[in-house]
Amino acid sequence: MPENAQKETNESSHGSQPLETQQDSLMQKPQQKSQVSGNRLVLARAYRPLCFADLLGQDHARRVIENALRNERLHHAILLSGPRGVGKTTLARLISRAINCKSRKSGTDSCGDCSACQTMAGESLDIIEIDAASHTGVDGVRDIVDGAGYRPVVLKYRVYIIDEVHMLSRSAFNALLKTLEEPPPHLHFLFATTEPDKIPLTVLSRCLRLELRRLDNETLASHYRDVSKREGRKLEEDAAMVLAQAAEGSVRDGLSLLDCAFSESNDDTITLTQVRSMLLLSDGHALYDLLEAIVDEDLELSLTRLDSLLNKGGQAEVLLREIMERLHRLSRFRVVGAIENSLEPSDRERGGALSERLSLATLSRMWQLSLRGYEELRLAPDPRASLDMLIVRLVCAAGMPLPSEVLTRLSRDAASVQPAGSAREEKDITTSDSSLSSKLRVAFPNAKIEEQEIEEQ
Ligand SMILES: [Zn+2]
Repeated sequence: MPENAQKETNESSHGSQPLETQQDSLMQKPQQKSQVSGNRLVLARAYRPLCFADLLGQDHARRVIENALRNERLHHAILLSGPRGVGKTTLARLISRAINCKSRKSGTDSCGDCSACQTMAGESLDIIEIDAASHTGVDGVRDIVDGAGYRPVVLKYRVYIIDEVHMLSRSAFNALLKTLEEPPPHLHFLFATTEPDKIPLTVLSRCLRLELRRLDNETLASHYRDVSKREGRKLEEDAAMVLAQAAEGSVRDGLSLLDCAFSESNDDTITLTQVRSMLLLSDGHALYDLLEAIVDEDLELSLTRLDSLLNKGGQAEVLLREIMERLHRLSRFRVVGAIENSLEPSDRERGGALSERLSLATLSRMWQLSLRGYEELRLAPDPRASLDMLIVRLVCAAGMPLPSEVLTRLSRDAASVQPAGSAREEKDITTSDSSLSSKLRVAFPNAKIEEQEIEEQ
């Protein structure tokens, strides 16, 4: 065995990520259930894309790579950056197979049949995956640098896939730089990172940089429904949307959650209630009931409904996050209204009705109070009491007049007191801070206005 091959074998055994196995690749056939010969493969692996077209939502990066492959002008070092779980490593693996395949399909995807593809389906010594997080020092890249001059063992190109490459130390990057500057023709580097800002400019400037984006909720929800269908299950539309929201743009995170949902229930249909309870989320309708009571300025009912949510096992912090999420959605609803389609259908109905009763200014004030409340809740010895007090403040805020309403009303009152009031008089009323509070109290005898809040406004 050549020296470099020996080194790579050692690296594979103690350093790099496990390579794709033959079994793994067989299981990835689309339209196939993840249940293979009794061993259940996690969904994120079972539905890992096998061709560029299957890569979700990364059209730009895909186009660049496909064009480069068709023209045989692929950059020798590519940096794939983007949030976790959006397909960086998957894309890197697709590229590594495509460049080594001897008869690519439509010039881009690996064929899966040629001798190179068959080699790659098993453990290949020429495709090396390294997790930079566990190999931060110079030693982590020493094998790459030392072996750069040697030709690949079997395949046309030796490919290094370095995950979380930003974790490499400064000296490791320096060691790698020489090879990046003058790469041998048989070498390709595919770097993946969630934090491209931490990579030295000298390295960045030698890479083709492709940004992979966070996926939108609709794309994710539709993917999760599709996967469920292939698994012989049905995922409710609302449930898919809640999963997508919880996934925060990451295909993989959502598939892991879907795995949990499948494990929790043997029913054919995965419902919204099941998903919400799995994610420890409160019942959506109960949350709207609470918000409605707040908007109705009914303090007693608001606190009763809050108690009921907490008594069902809700945690104060999680609940507050959900309230804030609803306030955010209501605000978006005010702006984009019916065209907002990244919401569950049930949200569109109740959220739409509620948002019509609240101005953006009021929603924004409630959001600010909640944000302040969130900080307090984490400091408070009793989070539940802290949440109670926040609800009291929200009820007060919901009924509080807006500064613009106050000024209009003050001007009107002033005008009725002094019909012949000069322009100078009106100016006094709208700008004089010292007398504002006393005038406010005259104009709104029942309003719950505090001195400090008047100053803020
Ligand atoms: Zn092939």
